[in-house]
Amino acid sequence: MRYAEVIVDLSAEAVDRRFSYAIPEGMALEPGMLVTVPFGPRTLDGFVIRVTDHCDLDPAKVKPVLKLQRDEPVVLGELMDLADWMHQRYLCNLVDALRLMIPSELRGGRVREVSTRFAHLALTGEALEAFIAQNKRAKRQLELVERLRSGDVETARLDAAALKALEKKGAVTVCQRERRRTPRALSDESRTPDPTLMPGQARAVERLTGALETGGRFLLHGVTGSGKTEVYIRLIRRALELGRTAIVLVPEIALTPQMVSWLHGRFGADAAVLHSALSAGERFDEWRRIRSGEARVVIGARSAIFAPLENIGCIIVDEEHESSYQSDHRPRYDAREIAWRRAGTHRAVLVLGSATPSIATYMRTEHGVRPENRLELIELRQRVKDRPLPEVELVDLRGEFDKGNRSIFSEKLASELQTCLDTGHQAMLFINRRGHSTFVSCRKCGYVVKCAQCDVSMTYHQSGELLRCHYCGATQPPPRRCPSCGSAYIKYFGAGTQKVEAEVRRLFPQARVARMDNDTTQRKDAHQQILDAFRSGETNVLVGTQMIAKGLDFPKVTLVGVVAADMTLNLPDYRSVERTFQLITQVAGRAGRADEPGRVVVQTYDPEHYGIRCAAMQDYRAFYTRESANRRLALYPPYSVIARVVFTARAPEAAENAAREAEKAMEAWVEAQGIREHILQLRAAEAPIGLLRGEYRWQLFTKLYFKADTEAVARQLRALADQAPEGVRAELEVDPVNMI
Ligand code: ADP
Ligand code: ZN
Ligand code: ZN
Repeated sequence: MRYAEVIVDLSAEAVDRRFSYAIPEGMALEPGMLVTVPFGPRTLDGFVIRVTDHCDLDPAKVKPVLKLQRDEPVVLGELMDLADWMHQRYLCNLVDALRLMIPSELRGGRVREVSTRFAHLALTGEALEAFIAQNKRAKRQLELVERLRSGDVETARLDAAALKALEKKGAVTVCQRERRRTPRALSDESRTPDPTLMPGQARAVERLTGALETGGRFLLHGVTGSGKTEVYIRLIRRALELGRTAIVLVPEIALTPQMVSWLHGRFGADAAVLHSALSAGERFDEWRRIRSGEARVVIGARSAIFAPLENIGCIIVDEEHESSYQSDHRPRYDAREIAWRRAGTHRAVLVLGSATPSIATYMRTEHGVRPENRLELIELRQRVKDRPLPEVELVDLRGEFDKGNRSIFSEKLASELQTCLDTGHQAMLFINRRGHSTFVSCRKCGYVVKCAQCDVSMTYHQSGELLRCHYCGATQPPPRRCPSCGSAYIKYFGAGTQKVEAEVRRLFPQARVARMDNDTTQRKDAHQQILDAFRSGETNVLVGTQMIAKGLDFPKVTLVGVVAADMTLNLPDYRSVERTFQLITQVAGRAGRADEPGRVVVQTYDPEHYGIRCAAMQDYRAFYTRESANRRLALYPPYSVIARVVFTARAPEAAENAAREAEKAMEAWVEAQGIREHILQLRAAEAPIGLLRGEYRWQLFTKLYFKADTEAVARQLRALADQAPEGVRAELEVDPVNMI
């Protein structure tokens, strides 16, 4: 008798172990296959982990595998190992990791292949010509034969009578075959010719392709508009020529349509796109094209790193500084770390690319980093065709207020925008908040309208005239009188995208404005429509949140305005300066990408701040030097590791007590381990947002010296989280994506 060890597709700590099942006669099982098994009173899907000859249980009690879902393993051996590693590294259930490896459509047998009947021409050459000569009179049949000459056609599209006749005569055969649903972004089959590389690009390509033999890990640091994409394309092409495959990760597919169309333009049907906006069927089809080896270049957001490719030659992570590469729910993995690992397994070339690399990534290019952690730095210092970087001007908003200018646009930005529109160019205006006014407050007593479910102020939205909570989505009408003191002096403060849009309409009649933020992009394809209208010139001013800061390449944009640069500067997160620098540099880089030079106006209340000044100078090195020194002084990552357990409960005391108990237990553990000097901070406290979606939040916050045994500490924190009392949810976050 043979047995299969199976992990059932049920995410719960208690069942996160292997269960043994007997393999029925005639069923050939391998690790990585998807099966159906009995589980208590139910039947569940499960992943085969191992096949063995023996089983410790009483053979009479072992239940059999009921069904094999697909004839081939759905999870490749390499990805089985990766899931196991993730299980250790991210302290997630094994099944949570395995689930990432397959399209969700495959689970529970929800999607079936769409198969269709195709007509195929059975005759060729002389036999075909003879047949045509003999059937000159049968006009319809000959028409059909002509259509089939250029390829098989679905029978539904053909004349049924003629088809039947041809089938009878043996000239045509009909076969059942899968039809694939092609996602919209890939429908265009045009192939684009190669541009001649700039010298810097050529050097980068040479170094990277040279590493295809041995594998290697690189940071491609190229200023905005330096043509990083072209470098990626040449590397991928070389990998394909060597019979290998490639993965390209982008922060968000909808925001990087150009990357998709560029890659598709060059690789045609070799490319597959994986992202969340695909329909269930589309995603499943793309996954199968990859699994079968038909598609050899995979483009996608975070989870595309798990694409079932074999023999990977290169993995590219574009805009590597983006926080979307880190998952903010279980399993909390970092796609860059997975990329690092998969590249190692395949001896592939890993390229992290950015104009504004994260501090932690850049640090890995420095001398003294251990070889296994090191990245080789490749720089592109020039824009394509030696175009200049845009000129950036800082405007001190305090001066504007003194001049009596109450508008959200400084004189400088207003006059630049006027010139831009007068000369027929396009402008982008960036403000990192959606809505109209950022908070609503009483002038008399200072009362601020807050969400009843969350401890955050509500944002005024012009559309619908509502106050909206950006955390839970709750809405309410704006108060006419102050709920606290009854005064009628209610004022709207701060600005968001809606206000900027309204001001542009009011002040610049010739502007044709579009807005791109979370509110305008809810419909499928909305992103694409807004960007297409801007590209075609139908609109000439694009107002948006950080959605417009990423990778976009519009040749006619000559002006970029950053309406409120310091908005993100003072958030309670050690990365807030870094993120502000990245945003401003990236959005500034959208200007002057073609022959016309670009101008950037950055409005700020804090023009002396190094984050803003370095961004204005587009000087990454200066920023890095300053910021990494600050991190070292304050012992923030990467000089330390932050880990926290967030306790959430309906009752405020429950969350607090759980956090305080965990603190005590942790203190005792640290003492017992004798690792006090590795713990820089250990503290129970209310979370920065103490009430969220109607639940109270406390945290056990820890900061560890970077040489500490992070994994041991994390395991202990996880154990404490698992012991949280009834009514309290506890979630471990190592290196949290955000600190709210
Ligand atoms: P980055 O990602 O570095 O900001 P992109 O890859 O978006 O830069 O390239 C900027 C623009 O330059 C794109 O329009 C691209 O097609 C073009 N480009 C890239 N390389 C070349 C080249 N060697 N010759 C001409 N145009 C190029
Ligand atoms: Zn009041
Ligand atoms: Zn809320």
